[in-house]
Amino acid sequence: MSEHGSAALSRTGESGEAQTGTERTGVQGQRAGKQSWHAEAAYVGGMVETDVLIETDGDQITAVTPATAAPADAIRLTGLTLPGLANAHSHAFHRALRGRTQVGEGTFWTWREQMYEAVAGLNPETYLELATGVFAEMALAGITSVGEFHYAHHDVDGARYSDPNAMGHALVAAARAAGIRITLLDTCYLTGGIDSSLNPTQRRFSDGDATTWASRVEELRAAYVGSPDVIVGTAIHSVRAVPKEQLGTVASTAAKFDAPLHVHLSEQRKENDDCLARYRLTPAQLLDTCGALGPGTTAVHATHLSQADVELLGDSETCVCMCPTTERDLADGIGAARTLFEAGAPISLGSDSQAVVDLFEEARAMELDERLRTERRGHWPSTDLLDAATTAGHASLGWGTCGQLHAGALADFVTVGLDSIRLTGTTLDVAAESVVYAATAADVRHVVVGGRVVVSDGVHMLVDEAPRRLGAAIRAVYRASPRPVGVPWRH
Ligand SMILES: [Zn+2]
Repeated sequence: MSEHGSAALSRTGESGEAQTGTERTGVQGQRAGKQSWHAEAAYVGGMVETDVLIETDGDQITAVTPATAAPADAIRLTGLTLPGLANAHSHAFHRALRGRTQVGEGTFWTWREQMYEAVAGLNPETYLELATGVFAEMALAGITSVGEFHYAHHDVDGARYSDPNAMGHALVAAARAAGIRITLLDTCYLTGGIDSSLNPTQRRFSDGDATTWASRVEELRAAYVGSPDVIVGTAIHSVRAVPKEQLGTVASTAAKFDAPLHVHLSEQRKENDDCLARYRLTPAQLLDTCGALGPGTTAVHATHLSQADVELLGDSETCVCMCPTTERDLADGIGAARTLFEAGAPISLGSDSQAVVDLFEEARAMELDERLRTERRGHWPSTDLLDAATTAGHASLGWGTCGQLHAGALADFVTVGLDSIRLTGTTLDVAAESVVYAATAADVRHVVVGGRVVVSDGVHMLVDEAPRRLGAAIRAVYRASPRPVGVPWRH
């Protein structure tokens, strides 16, 4: 039973003791056949509709009909049902840093040193457990697809594992265990900075050159061709980590695979300064020169841009992934999200460093940060913020058939309870605003991915005792780290 004290998923017309979605639907661990779901309210086509009948067959939605009474066999979804949320930028292992990096003072660069101490405890076994717990946390927060920006490829000394993709496979296995879709953004990471060699921690990130990276990614892709729940995408860590002469190889590999290409862009002013000094181009201009911008590309952060950079991203329809809770946690600065959107860049959202895992918080932060910067309110309609968390996020991860409730879409949806102490008293005409501005991940009641119930009444149906398991996995990472950790700041 959740804090709401409400029943788990149950069919209409049934009363008496609450039973779990699993008992009612029998869908745990397998795809449902034909099923009807009846949403008290649902976000459909940019509007909140009431009494919405969602019909599914296997992993697909076959019909969405507002203003319809519930058939007797429909499963009730009480609250506001949204399309599944897309977390477009994640580094799963950063979850191990939560709290530990909030001690003392510093900058992005001192935080990075602490982050490297957690990296040292990752191996395919510890990472599988950690990521399973992290992806379970995401599922409980209503996230049905994650874009995992993955660069801890090799062993701690840089040597390849016997299977060079062992870490990538561990992340896919973790997403499957947690019941969410994954776009594994296999990241090219070759240098420690512009014209700087890798430091010892960074050695495990590198394949040596972009051509060798591409051949490893090709093997990884081959393992998941035709998978309904896995896309193997590509990433450039940043212009700090991939030299100009190798950027084109990554971009052409993404094009060859028709795969999403993600890149950290201008998160820090130092990156801009170093790039301008070396290439006489901003990072955005450098990526453009190398063919790395376009509708299949997502630039993550895009915090410190010139007006010309904004136009470059907008004109090329490059998606921009904002990660406001991480950007404020790392003292990065406030990106010009609305300006980018109006210039033509779709906007998605990501939990990035896992300072928190809550896409409602990311969505409202994008608006609230702009209020602080401009001293004006109302830059983003709530529907645009919901679209960033659903439609645009899924598009940036290559899941074009997710993120909306309509016939033909994949059956991924999330029900937010409106009766918690945070949301009670709202009315359906402002349900979208209430959820965007006051809901937290804890208000997510039910999560369905591909027609399968993954979360029922706030309980993960596939990962038993998810909090205990995640806590144990974090401790195991630090036990496996040869570097002194715990409260890293004090060392
Ligand atoms: Zn990142």
